[in-house]
Amino acid sequence: MFCAIVRGEVPASFVLREANVAAFLDARPVFKGHVLVVTTAHIEDFHALPAAEVGPYWLAAQRVSRAVESGLQAQGTFIGVNTKISQSVPHLHTHVVPRRKGDGLRGFFWPRTTYESDAEREGFAARIVAALG
Ligand SMILES: [Zn+2]
Repeated sequence: MFCAIVRGEVPASFVLREANVAAFLDARPVFKGHVLVVTTAHIEDFHALPAAEVGPYWLAAQRVSRAVESGLQAQGTFIGVNTKISQSVPHLHTHVVPRRKGDGLRGFFWPRTTYESDAEREGFAARIVAALG
C-alpha cells in the first residue's frame, strides 16, 4: 500500500518527497498533522533497513518532526515505529505525531480522528511543507 502511495497510485497528502524517503499524512491520524515517514523502496520493517540507510532515514524523520512541531505550533512530538506487531502495513514507516500538554495521548495509537475534508487535510500538509523549507 505504501509503495502505491509512493508511486502516486493511491492519493496522499505528501509533506516530503525525496529519492530515498517520503512522508505523508496518516489518513486516520491520532492527532491532525500525524505524519508517516517511509522509505521509497519497499523495505518490510525497521529491522530490514540497510545500515547505510539508517542515518539518512532518521535524519529525514528528525527534519519532519521539527517541522511538525514548528509548522503546527505543537509543543513536541511523539515518534514511533512498530515492527511487525501492530505494524498494520508491512512497509517501514515511522509515526510522527504532534503533541501538546494535556492532549490526552496515553501512549498508544487510538482513538483515531478524521479530517473534516480533503481541504482541511491538505492544509495541515501545506503547513508542514512550509516549515520543512
Ligand atoms: Zn511497500
